[in-house]
Amino acid sequence: MIDYSKDTLDSSTDNIMSTKYTPEDEAEGSLRPRTLREYIGQDKAKRNLEVFIESAKRRGEPLDHVILHGPPGLGKTTLAQIIANEMGTTLRKTSGPAIEKPRDLGALLTNLEENDVLFIDEIHRMNRAVEEILYPAMEDRQIDLIIGQGPAATSISIDLKPFTLVGATTRSGQLSSPLRDRFGIDLKLELYKPEELRRIITRSAEILNVEIDPDGALEIASRSRGTPRIANRLLRRVRDVAEVYAGGAITKELADRALLMLDIDPLGLDAIDRRLLVSIIDNYGGGPVGLDTIAATINEEPVTIEDVYEPFLMQQGFLTRTPRGRCVTRRAYEHLGLKYIGPNEELGGQTSLNL
Ligand code: ADP
Repeated sequence: MIDYSKDTLDSSTDNIMSTKYTPEDEAEGSLRPRTLREYIGQDKAKRNLEVFIESAKRRGEPLDHVILHGPPGLGKTTLAQIIANEMGTTLRKTSGPAIEKPRDLGALLTNLEENDVLFIDEIHRMNRAVEEILYPAMEDRQIDLIIGQGPAATSISIDLKPFTLVGATTRSGQLSSPLRDRFGIDLKLELYKPEELRRIITRSAEILNVEIDPDGALEIASRSRGTPRIANRLLRRVRDVAEVYAGGAITKELADRALLMLDIDPLGLDAIDRRLLVSIIDNYGGGPVGLDTIAATINEEPVTIEDVYEPFLMQQGFLTRTPRGRCVTRRAYEHLGLKYIGPNEELGGQTSLNL
């Protein structure tokens, strides 16, 4: 039996469990699936895309514009690259906040080659003036640019080559409706099931030359918050532990030990998830409580809570959103080892007793 009790690992779980892209994820490139067939899970989105890509290819036209919704790390960028690969064209990548002026977007669009795929990540963060350039570009393959200033300014129309715009957003609600309406294909990516993540981990382990057994892969999968980016990151961390302690092979027991060292519990909750739930229970009787109040209590940004923590906690059935605010569920009390004693009218929610 290996004794891990005296070891410490860098347990900055903020980093490990963050769904945001970090320098540690640089190796992602080699792990990205290149074709729809290699892309695991998201069966509904994949089936739709397969049909649309096939029919666009038969007509010899670019694919209709695609909008991808879903939390960070679920495979939106990967899918944009796959669309370009499957269509036999090139992907050009940018992001909403990176395009500052209409003319920047104008330059990007006029430089596209026939049937190129333009990927705009975080498209909901594009400013209004830039967004307006996109409307005629998407609809009529045309842009209107103002040249010069003051009374001498003139507007010129430029024709664009046929292209496909793939937009990605973590916040569908913030997409303006004129923009949303101009996408012909609307795909929502869901958090992955443990079995799908197990397959992703097994595939990544093969590419990284890491020995892992199916139970080891499933253990990491079940603790990856339904997110491939986290699954790949945890695989690398567990591999490091395996190399040091167990000569390389990752088993269920080893994965479990390594993840506990990283403060990731058996269901994949990290320290921040637990702090979030406990603070709603301790301070607000289990809820309902508003997002901004929770954010202030645990010192996190409201958008991080909404984009990163809530989707997973809701999928696990630990948190619900009601019109009056967020509520912690009985299941969460049980998971945290707290006694659920039902609604407390005075507090407007529930209270807990430490077992
Ligand atoms: P997003 O753009 O949604 O933030 P990415 O496309 O960058 O997410 O995906 C993060 C990583 O997760 C990728 O590098 C890829 O290796 C992996 N990944 C995402 N989706 C899948 C999938 N369906 N199958 C296999 N690996 C995936």
